[in-house]
Amino acid sequence: MKKQQLVKVIEKAAAICKQSGGQLTAKRKKILELLLSSDVPLSAYEVADAHNKQSETSMPAMSVYRMLDFLASEQLVHKLSSTNKYIACSHIACEHSHEVPQFLICGKCQRVKEITIAKRIVDELATQVNNAGYQLATPQLELDCLCERCLSND
Ligand SMILES: [Zn+2]
Ligand SMILES: [Zn+2]
Ligand SMILES: [Zn+2]
Repeated sequence: MKKQQLVKVIEKAAAICKQSGGQLTAKRKKILELLLSSDVPLSAYEVADAHNKQSETSMPAMSVYRMLDFLASEQLVHKLSSTNKYIACSHIACEHSHEVPQFLICGKCQRVKEITIAKRIVDELATQVNNAGYQLATPQLELDCLCERCLSND
């Protein structure tokens, strides 16, 4: 993400937190910036590592977890349950309201694209799952894919 775009996204993120009565503190902002500038999803430990390499004060993984939880509750980052990693939301600077996010995860390079799948398709899927006697635990789908870059490199 370009510097200018990053500034805009961070400003919007701060406004989102403020609106819900929270605060994008300097530390939370740093964590969000790290995720925004990463090409691939990061685990809490990887976020802590990346932070501690850049900063003089080190941050324990536990507090990184708490900050990631906060950012996730504001939908500024999303947690991928299939890999236990986090990615920055790609709609922070958008004006539209946030839908249930779905993720395309490249199995080769780990890049992730956040998309929205039509609600009727997810509903249909939930119905099929119910018919089989199971219940869909989350409407957040994480699909194993190959990204366009990896496809064209083949
Ligand atoms: Zn999102
Ligand atoms: Zn958007
Ligand atoms: Zn790929």
